[in-house]
Amino acid sequence: MNMRIVVVGGVAAGMSAATRARRMNEQASIIVLERGQYVSFANCGLPYYLGGTIQSEDKLLVTTPAMLRKRFNIDARTRHEVTRIDRSAKTVSGVNLATGEAFTLPYDKLILAPGAAPVVPPIANIDASNVFLLRSMEDTLLVKRWMEENSPAHATIIGAGFIGLEMAENLRHRRMDVTLVEKAPHVLPQLDGGLAPYIEKELRRHEVQLITGSGLAALHAGERGVSCVELEDGQKIPTQMVLLSIGVRPNVKLAQEAGLRIGASGAIAVDEFQRTSDPDIYAAGDAAEVIHAVTGKPVRIPLAGPANRNGRIAGEHAASGSSPKSGSVPGTAIVAVFGLSAAVTGLGESAARAAGFDADAAYVHPLHHAGYYPGALQMHLKLIYDRRDGRVLGAQAVGAHGVDKRIDAVATLIHFKGTIDDLAELDLAYAPQFGSAKDPLHMAAFVAQNQRRGITRAVSPGPVGDDLLLDVRTPAEFAAGTLEGAINIPVDELRSRLGELDRNRDITLFCQVGLRGYVAQRILQQNGFRNVKNIKGGFLLAGHLMPVRQQKQPSPL
Ligand code: FAD
Repeated sequence: MNMRIVVVGGVAAGMSAATRARRMNEQASIIVLERGQYVSFANCGLPYYLGGTIQSEDKLLVTTPAMLRKRFNIDARTRHEVTRIDRSAKTVSGVNLATGEAFTLPYDKLILAPGAAPVVPPIANIDASNVFLLRSMEDTLLVKRWMEENSPAHATIIGAGFIGLEMAENLRHRRMDVTLVEKAPHVLPQLDGGLAPYIEKELRRHEVQLITGSGLAALHAGERGVSCVELEDGQKIPTQMVLLSIGVRPNVKLAQEAGLRIGASGAIAVDEFQRTSDPDIYAAGDAAEVIHAVTGKPVRIPLAGPANRNGRIAGEHAASGSSPKSGSVPGTAIVAVFGLSAAVTGLGESAARAAGFDADAAYVHPLHHAGYYPGALQMHLKLIYDRRDGRVLGAQAVGAHGVDKRIDAVATLIHFKGTIDDLAELDLAYAPQFGSAKDPLHMAAFVAQNQRRGITRAVSPGPVGDDLLLDVRTPAEFAAGTLEGAINIPVDELRSRLGELDRNRDITLFCQVGLRGYVAQRILQQNGFRNVKNIKGGFLLAGHLMPVRQQKQPSPL
């Protein structure tokens, strides 16, 4: 009798598993059971379909049951919901949602890929007809149809994570007014505080009303559904539709009820071949744990990359009994927000400290390619590393161009457990249109090396105590706005004006981004000033974290 492989969930992880299983085992019977009406659709494209960039629904459908049958001999059954696993009988049972009929199917190997479900707060009116989620094709078509029928002028988006930000941009493309609400102190909570203001500024530049530091408290409904969103701080936002994007929870009910082990992260625990605590049952995708590439611990990282790769491993192992091991995951992610992109990999600075690393960070704000070549734009890059051994723990970047390749390079380095010294040595492709001979990544590595070797003493923006606060930028920059209490000696005059400074007083200095501050610090240190600190990221970073004396310009960003 041929092997029977049953897959629950027919999108990213499930369909990767099913097609890989077929390529490994031509004889197996492979059945995919999918609750929804579609298989293998592009979740990541849904916001862009709503915004109109992707115009046809068909473009979102990567494949269809008919094609799966024809090319892969896979029996993909849509509108089939699995409700129970009987591990001793090795069967799954459920309901055909189209006919209402119950079904039971035997399996030799079962692959669970049921994904995750959006978090829905238990508050009144949450199920009103104008409150939406965005997870499935069905959700998306519902929002699209409702918008076409009701032509709303205003939407409130709750949650400014990746999906919330993408939806804000896409609804603005539809010329709607958008209020974006985030409970955390800044948008994109995955991003450390120092970089988020660039994204917030970009949102405001595109007239998104942004509210941070306050979460959803209540939804007030009238005749036509929710008409007002009330926040925890009492603010009331009149609105015509609400979109919830406050995170996801892994779909583990089936696994839990079948007695499979659920990990501490809340997702299904799996081994390196994606096997659950029952060796005949595999799990992959948002419902399953992955091993974090930096901490080595099991975590949840609900992203398309790990879902596709680990689904493929599960499919191969289930169908053939062997496969490569699934790799660890640094959690590399990127989002576009109008003209900017924000990307992360590995751990942020505070997450790294919380995980027990002696974490420090280097900030640089270089141009994305050679400054003399037209079109160079500034990017903001933060590199997180361990002071003890120089291991790179993470990176975060915001910019108009070139953010993706820098973060991908650091993700690769993290995979190989590389250090800041490795990063400083990387031989990267360079011509003026693409980068600089000293790439932004090299610059970040150099700063990190200087900090770690004690060549520069860099401090995070914050109170300076009794230190003299010294602005080493030009008089014009100083006049335009500086940190409260700072005096000005431009770096190019410093050697001739050393006599104006007290060698016995500690000095905290800064420039615009940190580079001139570093030069000034070296001048002072080598002239007998013993305790000189350079503010990381310069005025560009400190200007939104420390008190500013503003003169001509309204914002340091
Ligand atoms: P899913 O793709 O959610 O598939 C699970 C399927 O299982 C669902 O279709 C569900 O109906 C089915 N199912 C569940 N329970 C049952 C059951 N009991 N019986 C039968 N079927 C069941 N990630 C990125 O990396 N980059 C992005 O840009 C990105 N953008 C995104 C944008 C949006 C709007 C969304 C919603 C997600 C985005 N993601 C992105 C996340 C990414 O889509 C997910 O990480 C990925 O789809 C997870 O794959 P999965 O197979 O585990 O789950």
